[in-house]
Amino acid sequence: MDTVRELEVETQEACPEPLDGLVKGRVYAPGEPGYHEARRAWNLTIDQYPALVVVARDADDVAYAVRWAADAGLKVAVQATGHGVVTPADDAVLIVTSEMTGVEVDPATHTAWVEAGTKWGQVLAAAQAHGLAPLLGSSPDVGAVGYTLGGGLGWLSRKYGLSADSVRAFELVTADGRRIRASADEHPDLFWGLRGGGGSLGVVTRMQIALYPVTTVYGGNLLYPIEIARDVLMYYRDWLPTLPDEMTSSVVLMNFPPFPQVPEPVRGKSFAIVRGCYAGDIAEGQALVDAWRHWRAPAIDMFGPMSFADAATISSDPEDPVPGVSMGAWMADLADDTIDTLIRFTAPQGGPPPVVFTEVRHIGGAVARADAARSVYGNRSSELLLDAIGMAPTREAASAVEHAMVAFEASLAPHLTGGVYMNFLHGEASRSRIADAYPAKSLQWLRALKREWDPDNLFSHAFAVLPEP
Ligand SMILES: Cc1cc2nc3c(=O)[nH]c(=O)nc-3n(C[C@H](O)[C@H](O)[C@H](O)COP(=O)(O)OP(=O)(O)OC[C@H]3O[C@@H](n4cnc5c(N)ncnc54)[C@H](O)[C@@H]3O)c2cc1C
Repeated sequence: MDTVRELEVETQEACPEPLDGLVKGRVYAPGEPGYHEARRAWNLTIDQYPALVVVARDADDVAYAVRWAADAGLKVAVQATGHGVVTPADDAVLIVTSEMTGVEVDPATHTAWVEAGTKWGQVLAAAQAHGLAPLLGSSPDVGAVGYTLGGGLGWLSRKYGLSADSVRAFELVTADGRRIRASADEHPDLFWGLRGGGGSLGVVTRMQIALYPVTTVYGGNLLYPIEIARDVLMYYRDWLPTLPDEMTSSVVLMNFPPFPQVPEPVRGKSFAIVRGCYAGDIAEGQALVDAWRHWRAPAIDMFGPMSFADAATISSDPEDPVPGVSMGAWMADLADDTIDTLIRFTAPQGGPPPVVFTEVRHIGGAVARADAARSVYGNRSSELLLDAIGMAPTREAASAVEHAMVAFEASLAPHLTGGVYMNFLHGEASRSRIADAYPAKSLQWLRALKREWDPDNLFSHAFAVLPEP
């Protein structure tokens, strides 16, 4: 703590200019070589033109950049990977954390300190070396901090809860450029708001998370022909009540692209896929999946015992940047009508549909059981999370996907709870749906925190939490 307090004093001095003389990292202004590379996001639909990009090397760099932006009257946007840009960083100071990638595992306390730009894959590799696992999501390329600030739902969620629930402490730079720590003991109100409230209260420079003893799991995919998708979704609905918390699963409708890099057995084809991860006794996990095998033999069976170090292979999310447009919502049911709508919008109907991927994730378990008062995160009792994705390589494709997503969500409306999960929103929805992500009282407290910690909305590019008037 002493180091943090010393820095708190040091960074309160007047901020000298220019910024590139102050920071150890790199600074790019428009027109300078490297600017276009530095402003790029993983999601290629984001084409942002920041006033300045600061590729920070450490927490001091972040503090200087925040104070410099405030002095210059500019807003601050933060990016680790660009998987979840909420508002493009146009005209803002974009702090890129991608070079702050330290991970320190403490095997004795089952915890790790994770720096702001670290991707989940790096945390997983470091933790697995000690027989431990973090609560990462489907993709190892997503930033651990950005994911956790939004909540964080992954393959161990039903057993161990949200990633945000596993945070022990955040270190952050506040809107006035101070470096502070938020935990259950220090600034506990801020700690509450950072657990699911996004990055609107400050720039997190590192976080301490709990790790769990997970090494081998029973995980993978069963692929069924898309023609029997209705039966698969109905059987999935009936399977869910039989599952213990050790099993986190999802059902996916997927149109694999006809690209040469896609493995031949699935290239250009569509499937209804059951995927999951059983973190417990392998034989018990197998027995649950065997129920599917006895029901109908899958066209492709890729479920089996696996090292949790390979957890990314369960979803095989794209590694390279893609122009993705997504729609997400909490579902109220998997009724027959809901199932028909999922199929109508995702399965090919005489041609490839704009929606290439629709997933319904089964949550609940430890997420639902956690003490809701300990974080701002909402919708804990909802169990079925929808995530639909389309590709928008051109403006015309973007328009087709966006139209399809609007129609898809409208058709599903009677079967949605009205709640949303902020990490799964895209574009305008990620700015306008904030009231559907949190209980009304929690949002009010979050806005009161915003007034206290960022009254001028310096961090306006994060989840759109406006300061309480
Ligand atoms: C392929 C893919 C798979 C995904 N899988 C899952 C999943 O399984 N479960 C799940 O819950 N989510 C998942 N997500 C959503 C993901 O968690 C969010 O998009 C998340 O915001 C990504 O964080 P990032 O840092 O990688 O992205 P970025 O775009 O770099 O950051 C996203 C936002 O987080 C905030 N932020 C990032 N770093 C900081 C910081 N240091 N301080 C303050 N604010 C910060 C900023 O507001 C920023 O706009 C997935 C997304 C994709 C594209």
